[in-house]
Amino acid sequence: MSAFIDEARIQLEAGDGGDGSAAFRREKFIPKGGPSGGDGGDGGDVVLFADPGLHTLLDFKYRRHYAAQAGEHGRGKDQYGHRGADLVLRVPVGTIVRDAGSGDALADLSTADARFVAARGGKGGRGNRHFATATRQAPRFAESGTPGEVRALLLELRLLADVGIVGFPNAGKSSFLARVSSARPKIADYPFTTLVPQLGVVALVGGRSFVMADVPGLLEGAHAGHGLGDRFLRHLARTRALLHVLDAEPQGRDPLADYDVVRRELALHDPALAALPEIVAVSKMDRPEVAERAGELERRLGERGIALHRTSGATGMGTAEILEDLWKLIGRAEAHES
Ligand code: GDP
Ligand code: MG
Repeated sequence: MSAFIDEARIQLEAGDGGDGSAAFRREKFIPKGGPSGGDGGDGGDVVLFADPGLHTLLDFKYRRHYAAQAGEHGRGKDQYGHRGADLVLRVPVGTIVRDAGSGDALADLSTADARFVAARGGKGGRGNRHFATATRQAPRFAESGTPGEVRALLLELRLLADVGIVGFPNAGKSSFLARVSSARPKIADYPFTTLVPQLGVVALVGGRSFVMADVPGLLEGAHAGHGLGDRFLRHLARTRALLHVLDAEPQGRDPLADYDVVRRELALHDPALAALPEIVAVSKMDRPEVAERAGELERRLGERGIALHRTSGATGMGTAEILEDLWKLIGRAEAHES
């Protein structure tokens, strides 16, 4: 069975341990001051943390290199260096962590709040006070800190769709998805090209992201002799909203009749999907003949209490508003603010 896997390669550097200090007490009335070099602090770890509020690996595509803080060096007067702060990287629940070189799985962050120390900080070196012995009362050396671990990781995440796109073949679903996401679905001007779901990661301002799937198998699959298969439904297990794309190109079909056909197919194949909140959009608005028909379509949908969005996958018109409305429907807004 196919799975839609999002991937990101990252480089991690844990903090180096601070060096121990080689210092001696200098006190007026103590002629032979003893060693007083403090220890270096340990370097910070790089920790991966499974955050249920995240759903994509998008952040790791923009930034690949991460380093935790080094430990402070020890100082005289027995002063210890502070430990370097850990760097905690939040990843979506379900992220599998692999060594980028060998491909070996190192961790499976499958539960919320799971933590994995991906790169360990170096140890702080001991100050010279640790090295004084009866025969060597004034050690002039101290230990160096050890370097932090450096790691190249491959993060993998099985993508689940937050939003499903439905509509007639050729309505412009793939074009919309390609416009708004990092997906590169196949686009062709004949029906039945989309026989596997196409997924894309949609990025919104403020670091928000969600996964959108171009849903095949409704009409396409039905025509090809099979409906929504398990393979496909797996990817819709988390879907919380639909985008219903209507094609108003004047070619003898009525977009409102198409709408009803798709709604009926949905209800037949998967009542749970059919029950999801839906945004309805007319596509290809860059075409004058479509723009002319949109007003009437809006009015007829309005009679049923359905709002119509206008969009074009070709120009990007209306996409920002649709994505924001979908974001509200999938209910991620509150979770993100916290
Ligand atoms: P899907 O079957 O619903 O995924 O539809 P596609 O995205 O594959 O598009 C079907 C056809 O319509 C293709 O020839 C596209 O080039 C065309 N198309 C899709 N969106 C637009 C659009 O916004 N404007 C124009 N002019 N053509 C579009
Ligand atoms: Mg398509």
